[in-house]
Amino acid sequence: MELYSGYINKLIEQFEKLPGIGSKSAQRLALHVINMPPEHVERFAQIMVEARKNIHYCEECCTLTDKEICPICSNPSRDHSTIMVVENIRDLAAYEKTNKYEGVYHVLHGAISPMLGMGPNDIRLKELIKRLEGDVAEVIIATNSSLEGETTAMYISKLIKPTGIKVTRIASGVPVGGDLECIDEMTLLRALEGRREL
Ligand code: ZN
Repeated sequence: MELYSGYINKLIEQFEKLPGIGSKSAQRLALHVINMPPEHVERFAQIMVEARKNIHYCEECCTLTDKEICPICSNPSRDHSTIMVVENIRDLAAYEKTNKYEGVYHVLHGAISPMLGMGPNDIRLKELIKRLEGDVAEVIIATNSSLEGETTAMYISKLIKPTGIKVTRIASGVPVGGDLECIDEMTLLRALEGRREL
């Protein structure tokens, strides 16, 4: 006998597809939604649909935004000649939280990983290279210190070196395999300040 009705099962299945949600959490969330006032559920669903529809990559740095150019790239007081390359938006947010970095970013949306079948064309690398045609003084590579992050850093530095643009790598104050987003602000700042030229 089925424990739940078809609709509840369908809802549980959808929640189970989300990252970090196991079957118990999925059940709890599904039952919570069913107990929510219908208008709240509608609003929730509507916001998800609208966010998905209206949010896209910034034309310059590839972060997520609902404008053509994100607020960081369109801020004239940021140093547009310094680009920090990060793997994802959570890493960008971690550096923004320090309030000390004044340059702009480039979000790769992943890292090169032969094991996962992720090559240079699967991340936003072409967009980065295009930006180097502009007035760029330094590219700071702030990918994670995982194998994938290091592979990506090496690949990018080899690409940029011939252009004569300064390429630096954040210091390894960031623990090996550490996710940038989990590291405290002091460590992030130390890693940034101790960056070395590649
Ligand atoms: Zn941007």
